[in-house]
Amino acid sequence: MTLRATPDISGHCTRCNHGVRTVQPWPHWRRVRYGYFAVLVGALFCAPVILADGFVLIPMLMVFIASIGPLNSLVRKMPTCADCGAPIEGGLPPLQPKSA
Ligand SMILES: [Zn+2]
Repeated sequence: MTLRATPDISGHCTRCNHGVRTVQPWPHWRRVRYGYFAVLVGALFCAPVILADGFVLIPMLMVFIASIGPLNSLVRKMPTCADCGAPIEGGLPPLQPKSA
């Protein structure tokens, strides 16, 4: 898998101690999380059907609910140095919640 770094210097790596090109995380993870919650609301309206099937649909719903953890970690992912892979503090800002 090839790393797709920014074409120009876009951050300062504290480990390399100079300006470096950064590898940005995929910028649409927050939209994916909005879609996740939309599907969850849809599952709420389908609750009579889901809760009637305790062998397939309820475990599938549990797996779906458990997937919010990895999805949140992908949303919070920081840009990394293209040379050494260290997270870049002052790079392009990672996706933040609007309240922060
Ligand atoms: Zn570095």
